[in-house]
Amino acid sequence: MHIQPSGSQLIIGGWKETSLVDVLESVSFTLWLSYCNFKCPWCSNSRLARGYEKKVVPIGEIVSHVREARNFVDYFHVTGGEPTLQYRSLVTLYLKIKEETGLKLSLDTNASLPEALQYIFSHVKIDHVAIDVKAPLSVAALYARVAGLQTKIAEKIVERVREGIMLTSQNTEFLELRTLLVPDLLSPSDIETISRELANLDLKVPRIAYVVQQFIPYEGVPDEYRNKKKTPRELVKQTAERVAKVFPDNVEIWYRTIEDGNVRIR
Ligand code: SF4
Repeated sequence: MHIQPSGSQLIIGGWKETSLVDVLESVSFTLWLSYCNFKCPWCSNSRLARGYEKKVVPIGEIVSHVREARNFVDYFHVTGGEPTLQYRSLVTLYLKIKEETGLKLSLDTNASLPEALQYIFSHVKIDHVAIDVKAPLSVAALYARVAGLQTKIAEKIVERVREGIMLTSQNTEFLELRTLLVPDLLSPSDIETISRELANLDLKVPRIAYVVQQFIPYEGVPDEYRNKKKTPRELVKQTAERVAKVFPDNVEIWYRTIEDGNVRIR
């Protein structure tokens, strides 16, 4: 599944001129692209991910808004949905942003489209990449439940995600790996399994961080998960402390909650 709008356009949900939550310790101009190849039942951007929120916007219009915000931000960050579905137009956008603003570039992805990532990395340097590692890559049935996929499809997807993570680690200077502690789907020991798998990949990146994130039932979450309670802050913190024992010392460990914001524990 690839979504390729014609010419120099992108299908987007919107943007925020200054965001403090998308790149650790930095301010970003954040752009949301529509559509996703996953159907996570807890997705806080489900309307955007499922293509109900979308508008076709010329790349030049986005660039001019970023230019205006240039002095207030460190990064130009693109998220979604799954932004790599529009990889060709995305590369055009990144190159124009770099040329006209000089900002550092950032991407948030589920890493399931390694060919698209390869295309992006071969055309433009992405300074920061955030990868959402949804579930243990060794347990396809669980990955399927967390990402809203059929198990047969998830069996192939987990291999592609592993490939996407390896590829990204060779092409960026700052890799931020993240997992959301989703109630009734993932337990702290699942997060520990994910951490062990990532630690075993022995990723070589100048800066690497793992972030345990809190689930919050925002308005955009589908009904099925809208009525769940947010993950308790203490549980998120304790889980981050637990995985700190799993990762090697060069990996920064963080947790992110509404109560505490981004907290580095190591
Ligand atoms: S959480 Fe991310 S990967 Fe999952 S459906 Fe939403 S946008 Fe897609």
